[in-house]
Amino acid sequence: MRIVLASSNRGKIAEFKTCLSEYEVVSFDEVIEPFDIEESGNSFKENAIIKSRAVFNKLKDGNAVVLSDDSGISVPLLDGIPGIYSARFAGKGARAKDNLELLVKKLKEKNVQTTPAFYTAAIAISTAKGDFSVHGWMYGLATSNPKGENGFGYDPMFIPEGFDKTLGELDESVKEKFSHRSQALILAKILLKTLTKEKR
Ligand code: IMP
Repeated sequence: MRIVLASSNRGKIAEFKTCLSEYEVVSFDEVIEPFDIEESGNSFKENAIIKSRAVFNKLKDGNAVVLSDDSGISVPLLDGIPGIYSARFAGKGARAKDNLELLVKKLKEKNVQTTPAFYTAAIAISTAKGDFSVHGWMYGLATSNPKGENGFGYDPMFIPEGFDKTLGELDESVKEKFSHRSQALILAKILLKTLTKEKR
């Protein structure tokens, strides 16, 4: 079975391809002309469904299975920012580096070296049967002293619970096991099996 990912984020696509290795996984821009999707929702869930539904409708294939992820990092000390605005924290079209630097600056303004933070991932699946969603979380600390090159986005400034290094420094296998996306994918895989089960 083929799963079309409603994402053009290379970091996310690589993680999905690893975690969904039992399926053929392609990103939507490999099968249709890329188009912009406005993430106008007020929650990770709403934005994930907006993306998977938009790609499902464009594919015009009743058998298509489209999966999307809307995710981000939240810092309670900063009232939960950047949250659903993680990708555009430093402005529309901002680079990952600019977003990370802005969050580091906000932590420094509060005079903290580390503070609790968490990643959220909402995964949506759209098929002819409708739109479905699940969530996963990863808790830890945000640090104002980012380190390492692994992962993507805010990973160099995120220390997962139970570790003393950032995701930028830790082996990618840590994320594969414990990340918000991996946790949500455990549930998404159950959903996929149910939605794609042949009728007897
Ligand atoms: P989205 O593509 O609109 O869901 O935006 C997700 C944004 O959240 C990314 O661009 C990153 O800034 C951030 N993000 C989500 N998941 C991760 C992760 O696993 N590591 C680092 N940053 C992440």
